[in-house]
Amino acid sequence: MSGRRGIPFVVSAPSGTGKTTVCRAVVEHDGQVEFSISHTTRPCRPGEQDGVHYHFVNAEAFAELVAEGGFVEHAEYAGNQYGTSWKSIDEPLACGRDLLLEVEVQGARQLRSRRDDARLVFLLPPTLQELESRLRGRGTDSDEAIAKRLETAHVELASVHLFDYAVVNESADQATRDLLSIIHAERSGETGDVRERFGRARVVEGLKGILPIPGRS
Ligand code: 5GP
Repeated sequence: MSGRRGIPFVVSAPSGTGKTTVCRAVVEHDGQVEFSISHTTRPCRPGEQDGVHYHFVNAEAFAELVAEGGFVEHAEYAGNQYGTSWKSIDEPLACGRDLLLEVEVQGARQLRSRRDDARLVFLLPPTLQELESRLRGRGTDSDEAIAKRLETAHVELASVHLFDYAVVNESADQATRDLLSIIHAERSGETGDVRERFGRARVVEGLKGILPIPGRS
């Protein structure tokens, strides 16, 4: 692999989509890709280790890193700060190692504009399919509930445009296989097949049918 630069694979998903399970399985199956280690101000959870799962820092240290321009992207999520440092990605990529950056959507947006080499994958929750089947006729939910789900779909779809690929997480195994095929294809440079299967244009096309909200134009 000498001379090869690693690829930063960025994975985002609405919360509750099972992103962490899928990303962990990908790293387990593919020895050439590893997690980038982010900084966060959120407290360490049981089972997590500083420097392994995150670099756990206080708000002052985080702000200092922001001021120094130490982050390629950073964002606030649920009251805590999260960021990917240049340091955490530059060295592994320069050594030819691929990285998995598991970030929320604001971070993905920043990476889209700052890193031409980033490949962005959006994991869609299977609830989009539930929405689809509901809209296609049974309608057991209240109008209000359906409208709310559709609103969420709108937000999700708006984000899909940022991404190179979108994978629907119907099962963790399936989504893991799909993400692995995207990674392998990008590595080999032969992306025609995965773009056909998971390219955003295809997903956006597939989602069109579920987007109109009843009672709205
Ligand atoms: P958690 O606190 O559950 O580990 O993560 C909360 C959210 O922050 C998840 O959506 C996770 O993907 C996201 N996240 C983790 N690290 C980063 C990061 O470095 N940058 C950004 N923008 N989001 C991150």
